[in-house]
Amino acid sequence: MTYSLTCADTGANCPGSFTTENQDELMEHVMLHAQRAHPELVGNEQLGAMVKTLIKQG
Ligand SMILES: [Zn+2]
Repeated sequence: MTYSLTCADTGANCPGSFTTENQDELMEHVMLHAQRAHPELVGNEQLGAMVKTLIKQG
């Protein structure tokens, strides 16, 4: 089982995509990326919930 998220799915104009073997690790990667690349999203309380809806399990 893998978990993946494509940054562009959040509506960002960004080539980032992330794949990990567990969801918690994916969230860590995505949040670190968001802090660096999308600081405007980090203040959004909905970000975590939005990201979770966009995670694809493979
Ligand atoms: Zn991004």
